[in-house]
Amino acid sequence: STPLLEVRHLKKYYPIRKGFFKRVVGQVRAVDDVSFYIHEGETLGLVGESGCGKTTTVRCILRAIDPSAGQILFRTAAGETVDVAQLDEDELQPLRREMQMIFQDPFTSLNPRMNLLDIVGEPLLVLEGLKNRRERAERVAELLELVGLRPEYMQRFPHAFSGGQRQRIVIARALALRPRFVVADEPVSALDVSVQAQVLNLLMRLQQQLGLTYLFVAHDLSVVKHICDRVAVMYLGRIVETAATDELFRRPKHPYTSALLMAVPVPDPTIRSGMVPLEGDVPNPAAPPPGCHFHPRCPYAEARCRQETPTLTEVAPGHQVACHRWAELSLQGIDQLPRGV
Ligand code: SF4
Repeated sequence: STPLLEVRHLKKYYPIRKGFFKRVVGQVRAVDDVSFYIHEGETLGLVGESGCGKTTTVRCILRAIDPSAGQILFRTAAGETVDVAQLDEDELQPLRREMQMIFQDPFTSLNPRMNLLDIVGEPLLVLEGLKNRRERAERVAELLELVGLRPEYMQRFPHAFSGGQRQRIVIARALALRPRFVVADEPVSALDVSVQAQVLNLLMRLQQQLGLTYLFVAHDLSVVKHICDRVAVMYLGRIVETAATDELFRRPKHPYTSALLMAVPVPDPTIRSGMVPLEGDVPNPAAPPPGCHFHPRCPYAEARCRQETPTLTEVAPGHQVACHRWAELSLQGIDQLPRGV
């Protein structure tokens, strides 16, 4: 079947300007030829350290910024496929209801001077034109119940709620216009570990109940294990590996993925022997290393890696890797993971 969203060869380059005349002296390839798809009802994880381009990718998809090149094909509720990259602001309006975003930080993304009725009801007023306050209150009550909050809370303000409850409010607001596609940008990373699992379970329940499709952005692999069907790992503007979640965790083929797996907590640390810890910072995206961008941090780098850029290649059904040496390396995956987050 046609994917709900298909991103093809997406690029976002920023000019680097210098001096009094602001001459262009180079460019940052924040997103450099990224392709992936998401089927309806599926959750794709987009994972990488900060600065890898995942947020820029998401902002292009939602057209908060304009991509430099590439296609963003989205199948609308009417069954038409449109290229989001080509639409102007008027044409984007109806799509903005179908595509919604859940932000990372529930402490800053809610207006402290608005009560829940106004916060959750605002998209209904602004984008749906639902002017009748009583009707809005009814819809808000339903939305609050949907995310596990009591409708009586409607008159209260954000400060009255805990972090986990605030993230439920953010989710209720994102769902107000009945979107089909939701981008969750690190939706639990600002929360205590003890409430992370509750919010993830809520997201999974809502997906089942409402048939939602998620793009789930995360900086490490520990959270995506439970919620994502497939994962795409990004490094310095490119996807370096993509596979079904289980396959990626058990049989990582890229040294960077293997290193990210080190950050996932496991009950028995001895099963990690043979895995490579990740050292060093992400290089400056304005001056990425030549060849394989990962080579300065890769323990398996050889001469070829410093010169030739590896292309993303299918190595097993649905499993793609961009590494010259994937076939010779036998990287270790994680066979057992703890339950919960
Ligand atoms: Fe490491 Fe070379 Fe593979 Fe890059 S191409 S990940 S440097 S082995």
